Amino acid sequence: MNTNIQKMLTQIKKICEQRCVRLTPQRLAVLQLISQCNGAISAYDLLHLLRQSSLPNAKPSTIYRSLNFLLEQRFIHRIESTNTFVLCHYLFELSHNFAFFICSNCKQVTEQTTKDIEEILKNMAKITGFIMFNNIIEAHGLCPKCINIK
Ligand SMILES: [Zn+2]
Ligand SMILES: [Zn+2]
Repeated sequence: MNTNIQKMLTQIKKICEQRCVRLTPQRLAVLQLISQCNGAISAYDLLHLLRQSSLPNAKPSTIYRSLNFLLEQRFIHRIESTNTFVLCHYLFELSHNFAFFICSNCKQVTEQTTKDIEEILKNMAKITGFIMFNNIIEAHGLCPKCINIK
């Protein structure tokens, strides 16, 4: 396993201890699979990989329960427009607003904080008297690597 991933997993284990939540072997296995794939991955593909690796009898409910836990703890994010999951790039920022840049070619996802955009949206909502609970910013296009190939 890549040392960066290993470092990240050690950090996540520590965070779980601090939050008094349990990173069960299943949750860890799902997290490992997500961290190892290059871009975002669907629940269906995760189930397939999980069955091939550590849990041959894994059921869809196993995946969904683990994903819900990882989402709640903000270790991963859900990309709404493609219904896939990706590792969080800002593990230590508990309440961050983020924009996702999704490569249509290699499916790589980069995450960037969006403080300024957040302010603009809040103001727009305020003008119309709308109360905003949350917002999702997902941009589709080509990453720098894939621009060079094309
Ligand atoms: Zn994040
Ligand atoms: Zn790409």
